[in-house]
Amino acid sequence: MALSQVVGRLIGVRPHRVEEPGGGGAARVPQPVTAVVVGGGIAGMSAAVVLAERGVEVTVLEAAPALGGRLGAWPERLADGSSQINEHGFHAFFRQYYNWRGILRRIDPALRFLRPVPGYPVLSAQWPAEEFGRLPPAPPANLLTLLARSPSLRLRDLRGMDRDAALPLLAYHPVRTYAEFDGATADDLLTSLRLPDRARAMLFEVFSHSFFNHEAEMSAAEMIAQFHFYLLGNPEGLAFDCPVEDYATAIWGPLTRHVERHGGRVVTGVAATALHRAAAGWRVTTAERAYDVGHVVLAVDPPALAALVAASPGLADAAPGLVAAMPGFGRPGPPYAVARYWCDGDVGPERAVFSGVSRQPTLDSVTLYHRLEDESRRWAERTGGSIIELHAYACEPGVPATELAERMRAELTVLWPEAARLRVRELRARVEAKAPAFTPGSHAWRPGVRTEAEGLYLAGDGIRTDFPSALMERAAATGILAANHILRAAGAATEPLRSIRPRGLLAAR
Ligand SMILES: Cc1cc2nc3c(=O)[nH]c(=O)nc-3n(C[C@H](O)[C@H](O)[C@H](O)COP(=O)(O)OP(=O)(O)OC[C@H]3O[C@@H](n4cnc5c(N)ncnc54)[C@H](O)[C@@H]3O)c2cc1C
Repeated sequence: MALSQVVGRLIGVRPHRVEEPGGGGAARVPQPVTAVVVGGGIAGMSAAVVLAERGVEVTVLEAAPALGGRLGAWPERLADGSSQINEHGFHAFFRQYYNWRGILRRIDPALRFLRPVPGYPVLSAQWPAEEFGRLPPAPPANLLTLLARSPSLRLRDLRGMDRDAALPLLAYHPVRTYAEFDGATADDLLTSLRLPDRARAMLFEVFSHSFFNHEAEMSAAEMIAQFHFYLLGNPEGLAFDCPVEDYATAIWGPLTRHVERHGGRVVTGVAATALHRAAAGWRVTTAERAYDVGHVVLAVDPPALAALVAASPGLADAAPGLVAAMPGFGRPGPPYAVARYWCDGDVGPERAVFSGVSRQPTLDSVTLYHRLEDESRRWAERTGGSIIELHAYACEPGVPATELAERMRAELTVLWPEAARLRVRELRARVEAKAPAFTPGSHAWRPGVRTEAEGLYLAGDGIRTDFPSALMERAAATGILAANHILRAAGAATEPLRSIRPRGLLAAR
């Protein structure tokens, strides 16, 4: 354990139990219990893993041909005849993702498929790069080191800052933070700090962009919660790991086999079209057939949840709160774009595997896949080429994917001039808008895992939790919580859930 983690532990910066294991019930459901999980992304598959292990007869319905949702992966044939797995995009597996990692340990107990990414810089055309990965893991040492080391924030800048305005960042509280700050925007909060422009760009904006929301449209409370989750309240630091194989090989294939070995079923290419109350619980319909089950977990992205709710008129009586939340919840955040380029030639050997980007109009991150995943590495060794993935996390609506890809490529050449010399062999570009919006005021109506309707639960990265979580980790945690509600109702033991320090270092009890 690093010294900063020892100090962190003394002030409560350590994993905390959110739900105790067991809860007094049986290890397996004592009588037959049936469930359908709609959506085979992280949330749905996390629910299915727990339910199947405890003896629930669970069926996962996934609309797409492949599992994974926004962490999906699927085979593609390139013009050179080779078959490659393409993915929905680079993902950082942070070390405080205790619940998501717990699910992944089912298929790889030592998590050998994850490798540390050795640090990551934030790049800018205006200022020198700033290194983020190599900080002490726990607060307050990580924060103090960042402040002492960052060329973007000098002592005189700290003196010019509004330090009172910065205190809420250190005082995250699951109730008070939302009561006080959910009406303001992240942009208002950052402006109130009176940071020098460089510090705002290099230290704060890159961070806030990673949540797929524009600062001017994102709740300040959510931003404070995410600072707590990623920097100020977790003992694992900002360092992260990445799979050395594609997500289909490393995650979705093994997780499917795990669910099936425990008697569950995973059906891809089948969309749920509606759900209705039935005598014994719920009827979930698809184009082909209906599933009559006791419990349903809706683990779909926000626009898909709104569409399913709209197609299920019976929910107006059974779950009026859920129906009322849909106009806000179903409207996703801005579109995000992912472009994977297969190129002849490579960028400089000193370029990092993953880099964040600040203040380019479109480009937010760059990943060198040929230095990250095995299959991409082999392709690059064989051809002498490179595989470069570019992301935009919150872009202009209505712009085609290929146009966004070209804008990002052009912006990369400003940061890495040698990228202009690479000949593009192949491009796969996509633009989608499925990320949850965290607009100001949304906490009041954001649905939680439990709905008013018995046996109907929600899971996903847009669903509210009372403990710190975000993105992949929130998807997994809400999936496990949904499974726990079903287990508890059936008299079976629940699955433990963990999170980081529940409140900020300066939050009063
Ligand atoms: C480009 C990109 C980069 C990202 N990087 C990171 C990162 O670095 N770190 C991180 O933590 N997170 C990251 N994320 C976020 C992360 O991918 C999501 O938080 C997470 O995957 C959400 O999982 P989910 O299960 O809630 O939703 P989804 O993955 O959206 O899964 C929902 C599933 O439901 C299915 N579905 C929809 N409607 C129906 C229906 N009617 N019937 C059946 N199935 C249906 C969909 O096809 C989909 O598979 C990134 C996301 C993107 C897009």
